[in-house]
Amino acid sequence: MRSYKIAAMGGDGIGPEVVEAGVQVLKTCAERDGGFTLDVQDFDWGSDYYRTHGVMMPADGAEQLRQFDAILFGAVGAPDIPDHITLWGLRLSICQPLDQYANVRPTRILPGITSPLRHVSGPELDWVIVRENSEGEYSGVGGRVHKGLPIEVAQDVSVMTRAGVQRIIRYAFRLAQSRPRKLLTVVTKSNAQRHAMVMWDEIAAEVAQEFPDVTWDKMLVDAMTMRMVMKPQTLDTIVATNLHADILSDLAAALAGSLGIAPTANINPERDAPSMFEPIHGSAFDITGKGIANPVATFWTAAMMLEHLGEKPAADRLMRAVERVTADPALHTPDLGGKATTRQVTDAVCEALRRAND
Ligand code: NAD
Ligand code: MN
Repeated sequence: MRSYKIAAMGGDGIGPEVVEAGVQVLKTCAERDGGFTLDVQDFDWGSDYYRTHGVMMPADGAEQLRQFDAILFGAVGAPDIPDHITLWGLRLSICQPLDQYANVRPTRILPGITSPLRHVSGPELDWVIVRENSEGEYSGVGGRVHKGLPIEVAQDVSVMTRAGVQRIIRYAFRLAQSRPRKLLTVVTKSNAQRHAMVMWDEIAAEVAQEFPDVTWDKMLVDAMTMRMVMKPQTLDTIVATNLHADILSDLAAALAGSLGIAPTANINPERDAPSMFEPIHGSAFDITGKGIANPVATFWTAAMMLEHLGEKPAADRLMRAVERVTADPALHTPDLGGKATTRQVTDAVCEALRRAND
């Protein structure tokens, strides 16, 4: 029997609540499938770990994770610790050394969910946003000098390398090629940022030669926000820089109904280290401990994990179970205007999995 080692890391806020739900659903998937087992190990890294140890994770944290087949991650962020410490101390310190350079964010309107775009029906919004996840605006290069003085200078340098841009654009073309419409939109801001962004456009045109069957176009990021709202049906696969795609994908999540639904995968396409799967949302202090966090984003990312591990039938079965549950308004959590709890939604997805007759 196939067996996978999964690192489960809830992190902060609602992270542990949705990851616990995700692990329960993943284990039910494995039982229902019968062809594989999951060996799940919990990690307590995050803000509580920081309060005790002064760091978000051990110095060899990323190395410890290398022996796993995949990582299921919740969220980081605590009200009493600056966000840049929690984010860099855990999430980015895992993504960068494990070379998870492709951040993949599917968006579609699940059955039973209402998009704030009243003029758009479900099938008209079906996108995958590919976010560059290793360099760009979040390269970490920069600094502050003369802190607090009138002459203070602060910089966050956006670093783009030809190799880094090539590999993400190639990944996006390949993904677009695998989808029925074979459409790719390359997003930049090459009118204003005339060095790195112009290189993006040039590399996109070069890589496009390798994919003659993919139809592609270019958009400036500001105009892109308008197109996502006004003409969502003209988009399919989208690739953008670390910062631009971060922003566009929160917009995408909102257009698909709720941040509580949107999944993401930090993929290492070469598979020389594990990939990491997480909901897009953060630690949501306002609802932590209330038992009402929407676990659907975590279930969707768990399905992406199963697909990445090669368990496509189980991944598809999980998405069908999730869609059966979202279709029922009685099983909507408060972020979707309902009254259901995390537990009720989780139990309903597990029940739908057990009943699945395929
Ligand atoms: P957030 O995603 O935590 O919350 C935004 C809003 O969406 C809140 O009203 C919250 O209640 C709601 N929401 C989010 N997820 C939900 C879910 N599953 N079910 C129901 N409602 C949900 O974003 P924020 O408030 O900007 O940030 C809170 C903290 O999380 C900050 O410390 C931030 O740095 C961190 N953060 C972490 C990540 C990550 O770990 N990848 C991502 C975003 C924000
Ligand atoms: Mn974000």
